[in-house]
Amino acid sequence: MLKIISKSAILSGLAILLVLGTVLIGGCARGTPTLPGETLIVNDYPSLKPLVDFVGEQDLSVLNLVGFKAADKAMEELGFEKGAPDILALTDAGYMAQVGDYTTEKALDGVIMTSGVSRGKGNLVNVHKAYNSPLWFAFFDKQSKDCIYLEAKSEVLRTYLDRERTDKDAALRDFMELEDEEVFARIAKENIAADRLLNNPEDWQEKMVAMVFGGNEFSIITISNLWAMGLPNDFLKAAELHDHICPGLTSGYLIAEYLKENLPSSDPRKEYTIIAIPPWCKDDALVQIFETNVGHKRLYVKHLTQEQMEQLPEYAKNVANIVIRWEKGAGSGDGMVVGFDWDKVYQGTDLPKEWLRDFSTWHWWYVRLKMDIWMMDYLDNPEALVFTIKEFEVGSPAEIDKLKSAGVNPLVELGIMPET
Ligand SMILES: [Zn+2]
Repeated sequence: MLKIISKSAILSGLAILLVLGTVLIGGCARGTPTLPGETLIVNDYPSLKPLVDFVGEQDLSVLNLVGFKAADKAMEELGFEKGAPDILALTDAGYMAQVGDYTTEKALDGVIMTSGVSRGKGNLVNVHKAYNSPLWFAFFDKQSKDCIYLEAKSEVLRTYLDRERTDKDAALRDFMELEDEEVFARIAKENIAADRLLNNPEDWQEKMVAMVFGGNEFSIITISNLWAMGLPNDFLKAAELHDHICPGLTSGYLIAEYLKENLPSSDPRKEYTIIAIPPWCKDDALVQIFETNVGHKRLYVKHLTQEQMEQLPEYAKNVANIVIRWEKGAGSGDGMVVGFDWDKVYQGTDLPKEWLRDFSTWHWWYVRLKMDIWMMDYLDNPEALVFTIKEFEVGSPAEIDKLKSAGVNPLVELGIMPET
């Protein structure tokens, strides 16, 4: 009986509080607290509403707010409205990057709900960086090619996240009061139009050296400019894992397209054995597209020494991968050794090969960016750049085991190069 009375008393008390709260919140001046726990942060910051509606007032975090602040600043600086289709957002939030012990996925919701970018719209790139990399956000405008970069101050974020554990309401409100310069260690706005960078490489080189985008310049300029040209979703996912777009990654995308046509598999995760020989950026694209991870025992990586490279016959000097297909239930398999025609890429772009390894000047990024753009015309035409060096049959799983095993050079086994 007592229980029932107290329950109904609580209920009617709650009802009174609710009415009172509604009246007070509705009628009070902006920012004036009413009853403890009754003032909603959205009343003070109406632009937080989409974010708060999405994550829920109870679960709102400083990490949501840092994403909000980054997006809000970008919208102001680049002059766009929520949902603008010409905007690309790039961030390492919520992939691996952490702030101290805090994971950062909530910052993604802050960006998405404030700026209106999304994976589904294809204008959000979640860049893979190591767990202890700084948390950063970049927004790129396809029309103007302006880009704003914001890098969060880890120490500040950590302080507020610690406070959030014990005094959440105050931590959130105090965080909202911080100036952008107090939250972000770096806020930089640059025009990164590819033709502009390529026409004045010395100018951009100065910014690269100064690390205007916190060392993420190459990731941002390549992904943004190629996105503006139109990138398929699978390519974007490969770029996310790889952190940037380079001719090497594009060659992997093209090799994947070539294999889909010429050595198709209904279940590459179980049927393919891929040997990267030698490995380069391409193999990240293959892993993404075919799910042929090292951990799935579907990718084996073999380096070729300079001496071994020189022993390759002319027709195999651009060797890239050995791909073996063993279909489920079949008593045999087949495979192909594929190569990538770098000579054609160099000819097409009219660039000196030495520039690729010249990291002391602008040459290294110039050659990559220019090739990236040139290779975009080949995304639907892999046969123009990928070629078969050799096709072969395998009679048993033991033969595949041998090709991938330690101490064996599979190119020697397949009769492509002589034994050293
Ligand atoms: Zn690369």
